[in-house]
Amino acid sequence: MWRISSLQYEPKVAPKAQNSMTTTAARDVSVFGDGIAYFNEAAVLLNLDSSMRAILTHPSRQIIFSIPFQRDSGEFEVYTGYRVQYNFARGPAKGGIRYHPGVTLDEVTALAFWMTWKCAAVDIPFGGGKGGVTCDPRTLSMNELERITRRYAAELVEVVGPDKDVPAPDVGTTPQTMAWFMDTYSMHMRQTVGAVVTGKPLEIGGSRGRVEATGRGVTICAMDQMAHMGLEPSRARIVVQGFGNVGMYAAKLFAERGCKVIGISDVTGAYYNEGGIDVGNAEAYAKEHQNLDGYRGGDKITNGELLESECDVLVPAALEKVLTTENAPRVKAQLIVEGANGPTTPDADRLLQSQGICVIPDIVANAGGVTVSYFEWVQDRAGYFWKEAEVNDRLEDALLANFHEIRKISEARNVPLRTAAYMIAIQRVVACLKLRGVYA
Ligand code: NAD
Repeated sequence: MWRISSLQYEPKVAPKAQNSMTTTAARDVSVFGDGIAYFNEAAVLLNLDSSMRAILTHPSRQIIFSIPFQRDSGEFEVYTGYRVQYNFARGPAKGGIRYHPGVTLDEVTALAFWMTWKCAAVDIPFGGGKGGVTCDPRTLSMNELERITRRYAAELVEVVGPDKDVPAPDVGTTPQTMAWFMDTYSMHMRQTVGAVVTGKPLEIGGSRGRVEATGRGVTICAMDQMAHMGLEPSRARIVVQGFGNVGMYAAKLFAERGCKVIGISDVTGAYYNEGGIDVGNAEAYAKEHQNLDGYRGGDKITNGELLESECDVLVPAALEKVLTTENAPRVKAQLIVEGANGPTTPDADRLLQSQGICVIPDIVANAGGVTVSYFEWVQDRAGYFWKEAEVNDRLEDALLANFHEIRKISEARNVPLRTAAYMIAIQRVVACLKLRGVYA
């Protein structure tokens, strides 16, 4: 059973701790609250009226449900699942599914909110959605993960679909998770419905280039901004926090483009090497050991130290609220590229601005993933699959066209890239809302 909550969201105080990376002060403010603060800055500059603000600061639908499942030992446990469909003005909801112990309704709502603006910022025809299960996938076997995923999908069968809501992978979920989701949904529909999720394995309707797409988008935006700032790739020292789908591919593609990656990290710690990390070697190590624990290609430091280390470009690509007022004054990078969603708190963002640090915001920097997810959805519906070069070229074109428009607004209005990105995104969503009207 699923239930729908139309609660009036009061995004001031987090319902519980979000994750172990946050400081106490930052954690006390809800993640959705961070998103609303960014939205409000742009809404003021756009003179957005109070009716529009009210509509756009409330999620369309929040679903919470129980997931009873059987451990391999035979015992039953019950986890909590969420799906938030934030806004449908531009099309079906779109957004990942997260498996992590820190998943809460507040976090999923914030992530669905960001998906709304991200899809609009890169002009793809989707609204915003996100889902999650509060669990630690590292403690679950493949069979347990499959049972959780199938029950999660079955609970949502009425409200997801290619024209309703299209999930994808996020933290703790993989192409295999999407395969189980797609199969469960297809069994209920009595037909194969590939386009119900994106980020699938290639064999069952995935898109070439999707696995690397978010990391590729991070590097496309970063290289473009570095050129704008006069920072030569061969002299750029890059630090990446998080070595999962986003961070690992971003690090790899930075290295391929001639930059020196001097720091990487994951949940086990951070590894720093001024002479440069061999990213291919780190990737092989992480694949063999499931994480970077024990990696010897750099000096071991903490994740906190990594964020404050000497570098030119910093890519937070793990979780929310890692750049706070506590550490922002010590950040040395000249450019921050937000691979993760919501890694910078609004107060920290203001500090970074005052220090002259340029931030490419999450809703643009990590939009490569959802852009290629859109391409996957198009290919599934057409039943015709593109070459990898075509996917990558279209991704670069789409990202850069929108990023350049955002930078133009940022310069013309003398506002940070983040505010400019929200301004474009809000205008695009509002235009659709006005044309469609509010059904009553
Ligand atoms: P992932 O599960 O593949 O990887 C997450 C990485 O972060 C892992 O290396 C993990 O060890 C590390 N990590 C976790 N806790 C950490 C901690 N306390 N300190 C340092 N590292 C820690 O997840 P992902 O798909 O790479 O997602 C990372 C971020 O990017 C999330 O914010 C996600 O919402 C965002 N994002 C992902 C996609 C996508 O396509 N996967 C798209 C857009 C945005």
